[in-house]
Amino acid sequence: MPQRVLYPGSFDPFTNGHAALIQRALEIFPAITLLVAVSGSKDPLFTLEERLAMLQEVYAHDTRITVESWDGLLATYARKHHYTVLLRGLRPTGDFDYEFQMAAMNKTLNASLETVFLMAQGPYYMISSSAVREVWQHGGAVEELVPPTVLHYMQQHRPQMK
Ligand code: ADP
Repeated sequence: MPQRVLYPGSFDPFTNGHAALIQRALEIFPAITLLVAVSGSKDPLFTLEERLAMLQEVYAHDTRITVESWDGLLATYARKHHYTVLLRGLRPTGDFDYEFQMAAMNKTLNASLETVFLMAQGPYYMISSSAVREVWQHGGAVEELVPPTVLHYMQQHRPQMK
């Protein structure tokens, strides 16, 4: 039976960095579930419903991708829905300590859950949702940082103040 793979995140908003990671992971795994954290950052730019809507639109035509949300422990969600792989990305900008701690904690809580990391690559390593939010809120250009669907959604729902 193929491994069931979860890619959890806040996706506030979904970026080209997330998308690139997913494309690479699809070379390894046949299908991935994107699990949107209900309570990510304390001050999200987009509501959970908006983040879900954007992801559903980006992957509307890709049957390998499923989008779900969850408010609670990842380890519990994974056990309940029989996921065995947690996909995460590592950027050379300080992800390691947090990710190491999370992976160790999740393994302690759910021994059958293995965290698999893909290193950020090429032009994508510097992209973060927080940088996109910051640039957007100050009127900067994010065309190179998010998929066209997300950009369109942002323009419709959070017009920039210039
Ligand atoms: P979280 O709030 O859980 O950190 P994010 O949406 O910020 O959620 O990120 C989800 C995952 O995607 C994390 O493992 C993060 O390191 C990874 N990630 C985010 N941006 C990139 C990128 N540009 N390249 C590679 N991995 C990334």
